[in-house]
Amino acid sequence: MTKYFTDLFIAGTWQPSSNGKRLPVRNPATEEVIAHIAQAQIADCLAAVEAADHAADSWAAAAPRVRAEILRQAWQIMHAEREQLARIISAENGKSARDALGEIDYAAEFFRWYSEEAVRIGGDYRLSPTGDKRILITRAPIGVSVLVTPWNFPAAMATRKIAPALAAGCTVILKPATETPLTAGAIIDVLDRAGVPAGVVNYVTPGSSGAAVSAMLHHPAVRKLSFTGSTEVGRILLRESADQIVSPSMELGGNAPFLVLQDADIADAVTGAMAAKMRNGGSACTAANRFYVHSSIADEFTEALAAAMSDTKFGPADDPANELGALVSIQERDKVATLVDKAIAEGAVAAIGGYIPDRRGAFYPPTVLTGVAHDAPITEEEIFGPVAPIITFDTEDDAVSWANSTIMGLVSYVYGSLASAMRVAHRLESGMVAVNRGVVSDPAAPFGGVKQSGIGREGGFDGVGEYLEEKYIAVAM
Ligand code: NAP
Repeated sequence: MTKYFTDLFIAGTWQPSSNGKRLPVRNPATEEVIAHIAQAQIADCLAAVEAADHAADSWAAAAPRVRAEILRQAWQIMHAEREQLARIISAENGKSARDALGEIDYAAEFFRWYSEEAVRIGGDYRLSPTGDKRILITRAPIGVSVLVTPWNFPAAMATRKIAPALAAGCTVILKPATETPLTAGAIIDVLDRAGVPAGVVNYVTPGSSGAAVSAMLHHPAVRKLSFTGSTEVGRILLRESADQIVSPSMELGGNAPFLVLQDADIADAVTGAMAAKMRNGGSACTAANRFYVHSSIADEFTEALAAAMSDTKFGPADDPANELGALVSIQERDKVATLVDKAIAEGAVAAIGGYIPDRRGAFYPPTVLTGVAHDAPITEEEIFGPVAPIITFDTEDDAVSWANSTIMGLVSYVYGSLASAMRVAHRLESGMVAVNRGVVSDPAAPFGGVKQSGIGREGGFDGVGEYLEEKYIAVAM
């Protein structure tokens, strides 16, 4: 039987909340309660900050090699236990076994990548232009960091923050989404077994997140907020960070366009579209949200995409043949259904799917919508489900202008000959562009958005920089 960690982890100890209250966690595929987690009170969250503050100096002073070895050990444990960790993700998030295993592999890789970066944090040393002084630049851990994560990648969003923070020498408090605390708890247990000293990693599940995160951001010891979630909540947290001038890193919402140019290889574009749309059942900030297809190939592309999507088996994750799992909750499923119903009422046609199936659980079937206008409301919202709206275009200028006509700018996808796809890639307003690929995420690459999709980058060399501050030492010599 799967073991769930349902308590708070503060100063190296698993403990219930100070008033003993608990919150239910549901499996969205069965709608059953599978665990009750401790409901952290504000006092518990502040105790976690104090614990992180207490451990901060010794962790910052720990040899980079020591930090690296612990992160490497965490990767090894996650790798060895990938199947049971994946089962926890599916149980609370609903995603298919295949998606959950893919997430664990991706999540674990952040520990390995940053174990390798922990020993390579550099500085700079220069001669001043006048020739009589030296400019010495060191990079030190920014300090206690509050990490707030969403439910759609409960393992990867936690490790993408914890790994660079620990590599940099920061201590942390992780606050996961209320829907998916069990995966986060399991990762904290992995880190504990990997040898992270008491107080370096703390974990709280407050349930009512606004007040708890606000209290932590107003504690004078907190120097960093790393947030992944909706743009709406990101905006609130930027304001909250302002009071104590807490450094914010923001990974916010997406609205990814997927462009299929006239000279694209259609079979390749369909394979990429399946990855960009169906990974995680469409509940990804990187999910292709709007498909712009050149009118000369639109019928062929739509037919092939609809065929591939209708071949996708959906159902509970305990059957490994199901490639598409449940959405995270009945509310999320209903949100997707409402967006589709509205699009159909405005003239779109469901080539496949487009209805709530008559079965228990938060399931929504693969859906392809044709006849969608380039300015239809469904192109403006993050769908977060397995729904592909198709819009046709005649000129590259229209495709680029429609793709860019959003407040978001996380990722874009473009399929075409290398020359035309690269030409378009340079014109797209997003922090990441996939050229003839359906997936961009890579622990070694800088992940992040422009416009209202975020501030800062996670992953790659840049990721650790979010947790470091430069100090310039002016040396007379
Ligand atoms: P969300 O509602 O913004 O919640 C994200 C986190 O913020 C959760 O832990 C949530 O806790 C917490 N939160 C909610 N309201 C808060 C408040 N007032 N103050 C402090 N914390 C608060 O987002 P979500 O629905 O979980 O996730 C989906 C969103 O995340 C999508 O927009 C998606 O695009 C985005 N996302 C972005 C990236 C990226 O890298 N750019 C990656 C993944 C997801 P509770 O659960 O307790 O409310």
